[in-house]
Amino acid sequence: MTVKIELSRKQRDTVTLEAEKAFPAECCGLLIGRGQSLITVTNVVAVENQAESQNRFLIDPQCQFDWMRKLRGTNERIVGLYHSHPNGRTTPSSHDAEMAIDPDQLWLIVPMTEGVAGEIAGFQSKGAGEGFCDASVVIADES
Ligand SMILES: [Zn+2]
Repeated sequence: MTVKIELSRKQRDTVTLEAEKAFPAECCGLLIGRGQSLITVTNVVAVENQAESQNRFLIDPQCQFDWMRKLRGTNERIVGLYHSHPNGRTTPSSHDAEMAIDPDQLWLIVPMTEGVAGEIAGFQSKGAGEGFCDASVVIADES
């Protein structure tokens, strides 16, 4: 079954704005959320891209640990991450697949066309560098 990722309009706008600010480099960040087959994103955390190359991204592992600690004992967790593709590609690269070690991790990709963010695409990691399956991204009305 395809997992659904629910973002608020505001969270969607945060992600696309980060992607546009970082262009022509990639942006990246963590997705905090809850749920199983329907995952509701509760927080989008922009993280400085530590990659040395413009067409790579690297999330500070310390930032990830800090959030894991902060969320311990709550019903929220790090459900995945987002990053942008300045070359406009909507699908994960082979490098993305190699980095997708954790199963069930959600990946949001923001394709960029001439510096403007397009519609966010969602994927779910199969784990162990095995690649991704599709996930559907739902933009919820503000509650
Ligand atoms: Zn990528």
